[in-house]
Amino acid sequence: MAVFDHPEFDKHEHVAFYHDEEAGLSAIIAVHNTNLGPALGGCRMWPYINSSEALTDVLRLSKGMTYKAAMANLNLGGGKSVIIGDPRKAKTPEMMTAMGKFVDSLGGKYFTAEDSGIAVTDLQIMAEESEYIAGVKAQYHIAGEKPDGNPAPSTAYGVFVGLREAVQYKLNRDLQGVKVAIQGMGHVGYRLAKHLKDAGAELFVTDIYPEGVERAVTELGATAVAPEEIYTLDVDVVAPCAMGASINDETLPTIKAKVIAGAANNQLAREELGDILQQQGILYAPDYVINAGGVIDIYHQRMESSSDSAMREHIERIGETLNEIFTRADKEQKATNRVANVIAEERFAIKG
Ligand code: NAD
Repeated sequence: MAVFDHPEFDKHEHVAFYHDEEAGLSAIIAVHNTNLGPALGGCRMWPYINSSEALTDVLRLSKGMTYKAAMANLNLGGGKSVIIGDPRKAKTPEMMTAMGKFVDSLGGKYFTAEDSGIAVTDLQIMAEESEYIAGVKAQYHIAGEKPDGNPAPSTAYGVFVGLREAVQYKLNRDLQGVKVAIQGMGHVGYRLAKHLKDAGAELFVTDIYPEGVERAVTELGATAVAPEEIYTLDVDVVAPCAMGASINDETLPTIKAKVIAGAANNQLAREELGDILQQQGILYAPDYVINAGGVIDIYHQRMESSSDSAMREHIERIGETLNEIFTRADKEQKATNRVANVIAEERFAIKG
């Protein structure tokens, strides 16, 4: 399994492999870049079919975190860790203890947090072995919610701020009466819908499961639509808040909205789709910029001297960052996703 010449290697600073036979742990930590500070990135547990697939995933995700942290104005770099195994079948407390030791062995170059397959309770076990575990305590509030370690309220608030900025930039109006179609009524999508409702927007929502949609219809007066219709509606904004690659060769030609602004990771099936959106005059808020509220939350929860207002103001700067991207993209006639990458690279190229 080649590492240095792996297609996703891209100048990673540190890649560490760990195996603990007794604890049943096989894991990889990748640290992409620490110019701006220690690397932060979640720990993912997934039944990878082999270690090559796990390596590809961890390299790709840790690089993404470098870009995300730089655009979120954090003094942090990018990293990620993966555990090979099925979280529903193979996870044990001993494994989490061993993972804590592995994180600790990097001496603070990498901080871990929650990702797919890893819960706050798992992080708490890791935290007994290492001080470099983020997301185990929550003290600061956002949007009136009691902090419980789940960053979704902060992610949703950041997406709301970013969506509002995109509407102001593209349509030159506030959210009163703006029509928004939201794909996914989960942790983030539902909270986003609530913020939008409070701001006077008209909501169209969908999900593959009925609970969240029914709640949005009853509590927020939203209109329910079928999953396959959500991107075809005659609305002002579409907000992808479900899975990745939902803007693809099938959905893009059906989009009538002038703004795409949502929480999902990796919304564009290919980077080139950003160029097509730009050519068609559709403003795309780059996913890793607009959905950074969660990582900003995790950062503040670790700070002893932060506050509810400091965290909220930091999340609100997502709006300013998007404005910088939109303005530069217009000036240079480039896609917003490409401009975001360039700005991030300019930021993390300089050692902090
Ligand atoms: P979630 O699992 O709570 O919600 C996702 C919802 O999308 C679920 O209700 C699911 O049923 C629905 N869904 C899946 N496929 C669908 C489809 N084809 N059509 C309609 N609905 C579909 O997840 P979440 O925490 O709300 O996160 C939403 C997205 O935002 C994910 O892509 C996630 O990676 C991203 N994100 C989340 C956070 C966070 O803090 N939770 C942070 C950054 C990015």
